[in-house]
Amino acid sequence: MRDENCIFCKIANGDIPAATIYEDERFRVILDLGPASKGHALILPKDHFADLFSLDGEISSRVLALAAKIGEAMKKSLGCAGVNLVQNNGEAAGQTVFHFHMHVIPRYEGGPRMVSWEPGSPSGEELAELAGRIKKELE
Ligand code: 5GP
Ligand code: ZN
Repeated sequence: MRDENCIFCKIANGDIPAATIYEDERFRVILDLGPASKGHALILPKDHFADLFSLDGEISSRVLALAAKIGEAMKKSLGCAGVNLVQNNGEAAGQTVFHFHMHVIPRYEGGPRMVSWEPGSPSGEELAELAGRIKKELE
């Protein structure tokens, strides 16, 4: 299941070269060309899924364990102190390549602030109203 016009399909399947740190029958993990930090990696399924919502069950059940494995290897090899997992879905969320991917971003002591936000201060009523709307959709 590949999309001929998708750059990550081409990279994941080896048609375009990339700095690969891991590969198995379902995934290729590469270094990001525009890294947020030293060693920033992208987990790419070899099959094409546009985003989280179209992902198949096998891929979604494996991707978190793979992220943990990559993160552990980064801690040992690069000496990072932590790791952020980032996974963007939709343009509004910052997704620029519409082939599902998980960012694994090593974080170093004293490194720059990133993957953070200014906390809001919703009222209890607002939280309850929002929770009610989402919960109803899940029923
Ligand atoms: P998104 O914004 O969609 O979550 O992330 C896309 C990521 O892919 C960006 O961090 C960008 O630097 C990276 N990227 C885009 N094109 C290429 C490419 O051709 N090769 C590699 N290695 N990374 C890419
Ligand atoms: Zn693709």
